[in-house]
Amino acid sequence: MSIVEKLRSHRDLTDEELLTLICTDEYDSGLRRAADEVRRSVYGTDVYLRGLIEFTNYCKNDCFYCGIRRSSRSSQRYRMSKEEILGCCRQGAELGYRTFVLQGGEDPYYTDDLMCDIISEIRSLYPENAVTLSIGEKSYDTYRRFFECGANRYLLRHETADETHYGKLHPAEMSAERRKQCLFELKEIGYQTGAGFMVGSPFQTPANIVSDLRFMQSVSPDMIGIGPFIPAKGTPFESFPAGSVELTLRLISIIRLMFPYALIPSTTALGTLSPQGRELGLKAGANVVMPNLSPVEYRDKYSIYDNKICTGEESAQCKTCLEQRVKSAGYTIVDSVGNVKRN
Ligand code: SAH
Repeated sequence: MSIVEKLRSHRDLTDEELLTLICTDEYDSGLRRAADEVRRSVYGTDVYLRGLIEFTNYCKNDCFYCGIRRSSRSSQRYRMSKEEILGCCRQGAELGYRTFVLQGGEDPYYTDDLMCDIISEIRSLYPENAVTLSIGEKSYDTYRRFFECGANRYLLRHETADETHYGKLHPAEMSAERRKQCLFELKEIGYQTGAGFMVGSPFQTPANIVSDLRFMQSVSPDMIGIGPFIPAKGTPFESFPAGSVELTLRLISIIRLMFPYALIPSTTALGTLSPQGRELGLKAGANVVMPNLSPVEYRDKYSIYDNKICTGEESAQCKTCLEQRVKSAGYTIVDSVGNVKRN
C-alpha cells in the first residue's frame, strides 16, 4: 500500500512516514487527489462562509511574528464599538452569512462584561447563527461565561506544539503549555474548537510540524487553520522569508486525510502569497473561506502581516469575489451554518 493510501485508510502514519510526506513533493498529486476524495465523501463540494470581523488591533501580547504586537509602532490602532460590530453582523446577515467570527488582538478594553454584552446581543438578534470568537487566551471561567452568553465556536491556533520552538516565537511571559491547555478547556466547555499553526514560521523544522499533527490528534479539533507565515514590517521577524505555498497545500491535504471531518479554511494568508492560493487550498482539501466583514476604513490596519489582500473591498465585493473563486475551483458555497460533521 502506498504511503498516501495508508494515510487515507489509517488516518495516521509513523513519524518517519509523515516526515517523508512533508519533505518531498513526490506525493503531491496523489495526496491532493486523496484529500479531495475524502473531503467530498464527508462534505461533498460544500464550502462554508465565515464572516470575519476584525474588531480591534490593540494587543497586550508581543508575539515576534505579528504585525499588531504590543511593541509595533507601525500599526495605527483602532477598536470598534459595540454598535459598529453589530453593524458588521447586520451586513453579514444581509449577505447570507450564518457565522460571525469576532477576531482581535488581546485587548483589555473589551472586559468580560463588555464581551458578554456584545455576544448576548448578537445571539438574540441572530439566534440561528454561529458566533465564533478568536480573541486569544482567557481563563476557564471567562471562556465559560462567553459560552453561556451564546458563543459557540472558538479559534485558537496553538501556533507550534513544540515548547522550544514556541519560545523562539514568543516572549518569555507566554507559554506553549498554557496555550495548549486553553484548547482542552474550550473543548470541555463545549465549544467547537479550532487549533492550527503557521507554515514556515521562523525556526520551524519538519519535526516541529509532526509534533503539531500529533498535538492535534490529542485535541481532535473541529476546525484546523493553517496558513503560511508572512513577514510583517516592524517585527523581529520582518526579514525572515515567508512560508511556502506548496508546503501549506501539502499540509492541508495531509490534515484532511488525518482529520476527515475537520473544517479547514483556505486562508487569506494563502491568497496573499499566491493569486490562486485560496482556490488551490480548496482543491487541496479545505472547505471553509472567511470573507472579511470589517468596515473598509479599518481593513488595512489589521495588518498582522504585510501585503494582506482584500483590504480595499467592501464586504459585498468580498463575497462576490470569493463566490467566483469557489465556483471556479469546482465547489459550491452553501448557506448553512456549517457545523462540524463527525461520524
Ligand atoms: N489574538 C488572537 C488572534 C490572532 S490573529 C489569538 O491569539 O488567537 C490569528 C492568527 O494569525 C494567529 O493565530 C497566527 O497564527 C496568524 N498570524 C499572526 N501573524 C502572522 C504572520 N506574520 N503571518 C502569518 N500568519 C500570522
